[in-house]
Amino acid sequence: MVKKVLKFGGTSVGTIARIQHVANIIKKEHISGNKVIAIVSAMAGKTNELLKYSNEISNEFNKRELDVLLSSGEQVTCALLSGALIELNILAKSWLNWQIPILTEGDFSNARIVNMNIEKINKYLEAKGVAIIPGFQGISKNGDITTIGRGGSDATAVAVAKIFNADTCEIYTDVDGVYSTDPNKIPVAKKIDKISYDEMLELSSLGAKVMQPSAVQTAMMYDIPLEVKSTFTERKGTKIFNQENIDYTKSVTGVAYSKDDAKITVIGVEDRPGIAANIFEPLSKAQINVDMVIQNISSDQKTTDITFTVKRDDISKTMQILRKKSEINYKDIIYNDRVSKVSIVGAGMVSTPGVTYKMFRALSDENINILAISTSEIKLSVIIEENNTVNAIKKLHTIFDLD
Ligand code: ADP
Ligand code: ASP
Ligand code: MG
Repeated sequence: MVKKVLKFGGTSVGTIARIQHVANIIKKEHISGNKVIAIVSAMAGKTNELLKYSNEISNEFNKRELDVLLSSGEQVTCALLSGALIELNILAKSWLNWQIPILTEGDFSNARIVNMNIEKINKYLEAKGVAIIPGFQGISKNGDITTIGRGGSDATAVAVAKIFNADTCEIYTDVDGVYSTDPNKIPVAKKIDKISYDEMLELSSLGAKVMQPSAVQTAMMYDIPLEVKSTFTERKGTKIFNQENIDYTKSVTGVAYSKDDAKITVIGVEDRPGIAANIFEPLSKAQINVDMVIQNISSDQKTTDITFTVKRDDISKTMQILRKKSEINYKDIIYNDRVSKVSIVGAGMVSTPGVTYKMFRALSDENINILAISTSEIKLSVIIEENNTVNAIKKLHTIFDLD
């Protein structure tokens, strides 16, 4: 008998029939003698719908109330799943964030789980009950409801697995594992049987939405093995665990993309020490994260252009700050928010020379212009025009033998 944390994403609980199907998956585990804690997301689309309501009232909707609103989607699925299990004659109970409680720290919409009370639920599991917990939320030390970032039910599952000392943490979703790239976008994508935490963290941070990055980070920190699998088929999923056990035969494991970035170029700034600091200091003070930076070589030794990327959501704030700063002299500032970031990720890159060249050559063969570049030990990202995204992913997928 083992203790299992099973997390079901939005599509998996998207209709009543699917919730009943999930109840049957849990029933099977329960009948086999396993202790089950299930974590649920809101029904697919629900959180976005709620967010839209708040935006209709104000784009600056009160943050405390936003979390009260957004957390409600998971309350609905908790009750429905619990009810469905009871209909199958299984002892089951939903436990809301404040009933457990799930304690969080940090800002509304972006809190993180720090602890949970395990006693009552453990007793309930001992008494052969199934516990259903809402993902994506908690309460602050003041008792306010908080949410932990979009896609946060994954993080709830990992936190529950850690705090309850579970034997397994299974992420049930609408694809049957982690693929070499988004299988819904590029049909030749291949399923990956096992992947290291580091690679998964890079892939998900760079846009592979199948796992939430902070969930992977916590799993890596506490060495909690994860399995991503399908709610709708019984096929084997993808195991995410410590890298030492993986044999790397390929330099690249996956290709990810995101359309969250925007590129800014400050044209004709003075080419002297301190200018870059003058540009980036006010941005950092305004909590704007700068990702990639390129400074062109100055042709006249006097002025240069600096290009960098920020999150697309931060573009107007960034432009406002730069235009206001009188100590930065420049000829012009231009931006492009129709760009995408395409990345290759692979722990095998460390030991394979020429990966960078191969990526750049492949993109140039497709006539795709690289607008910015960033690298780390196991990833290489480029910014390109948004309309080239699919082409770039397909090409990279092929040349790195992932088809
Ligand atoms: P859930 O609601 O179950 O949390 P998500 O929509 O958050 O599911 O994540 C699953 C989706 O992630 C898939 O439907 C797929 O389109 C997308 N995805 C993006 N990149 C990948 C990848 N490399 N492997 C698998 N799925 C991916
Ligand atoms: N319902 C939340 C969201 O859509 C959390 C999740 O599904 O993981 O972001
Ligand atoms: Mg998700």
